Amino acid sequence: MTRRKVAVTPRARKPLTMYVCGVTPYDSGHMGHAFTFVIFDVLVRFLEAGGKRVKYVQNITDVDDPLFERARRDGVDWRDLADRETKVHLRDMTVLGWRPPDKMPKVSEEIARILGAAAKLKSSRHAYHSDNLYFDASSYRGYGRLSHRTRRSMIRKLREEELLGAVGPSAKRDALDFPLWRRSRDGEPAWPSRFGNGRPGWHIECSAMAMRYLGPQIDIHGGGRDLIFSHHESERAQSESLTGKAPFARAWVHTGMVRYNGRKMSKSLGNLVKVSQALQRAPAAAVRLYLVSHRYRRDWDFQWSGLARAARFIERMRKLLADDARSKGPKKPAGRALMTEFNRALADDLDTPRAVRALRSAVRQKDAAAVLAMQAVLLGTASLT
Ligand SMILES: [Zn+2]
Repeated sequence: MTRRKVAVTPRARKPLTMYVCGVTPYDSGHMGHAFTFVIFDVLVRFLEAGGKRVKYVQNITDVDDPLFERARRDGVDWRDLADRETKVHLRDMTVLGWRPPDKMPKVSEEIARILGAAAKLKSSRHAYHSDNLYFDASSYRGYGRLSHRTRRSMIRKLREEELLGAVGPSAKRDALDFPLWRRSRDGEPAWPSRFGNGRPGWHIECSAMAMRYLGPQIDIHGGGRDLIFSHHESERAQSESLTGKAPFARAWVHTGMVRYNGRKMSKSLGNLVKVSQALQRAPAAAVRLYLVSHRYRRDWDFQWSGLARAARFIERMRKLLADDARSKGPKKPAGRALMTEFNRALADDLDTPRAVRALRSAVRQKDAAAVLAMQAVLLGTASLT
């Protein structure tokens, strides 16, 4: 939030808590998603390799506008679409060798908690009811500080994302207010509540799930960079208004966008590279290595030549490990200088490209023990073949 690195030290004996905004299951399985979730997987594995305990929650946003729009357009039931795309996400991440989150709550199974949070905001006058129940953004000091945006820039982003909605006596009072509970349209799920039959707004879903599973304050909150505004800005405002405790998240970690042919990958532009397509050309470990060869906070361009280079390196690494496994005699411990460099790289704001260079050095020096230790963190359980 300060655009600076912060040290996150878990409180004594308690696990470090991490919440990452998961997929809205309607276009799962592309490289942009894989990049985000592999980066957070490296973070979890690095912390755990260092002896820390991590409690990791990643949600499934199965109640959200883009999902319903897609279901309507394709003439399918939103539940079927969500189930299918959630399976794609889990399949991809399993192949990419992640350490699964400890809990993956689905919004559709958390409605009571979400409603409870919305009602509490209403009774503490952070929310008001007109056509929908809205959060009053002006009731929270510092709305806009997480994303470093002016009021005008926030409104512009809301308009771009078609989240602006209507302002007026029978709608929201101010352009920055956002729905906590809203009426459902045809084909959308509706749950009964004292604010009318309807469904939750997007932001309150994550606040309620993060707090249910990780408590009022969490150590690390992550997601793609496109979520900083309005999603995380709003989550922070609601959560701190609900609990009176600040900060809601001690550190915010946002991953960059993956482009293809110069533009952000998105289904609407038709330039998605699917994880399944990449896996047809390279082993899972190579796909993962290619992803983590990029700095997490920067945007980057997916290139097939980069994936091919990663695959050639993985093959060299596989041969080294196979030779080492066959060789008799005592195994040498991992070289200390190599491991120090590797751990320093990841401790320095998760500098994965530098950690990949350490892995390359370990392969060049034929240090199989160091390669294995680095592989476990960077590549997880992704297959080398
Ligand atoms: Zn979220």
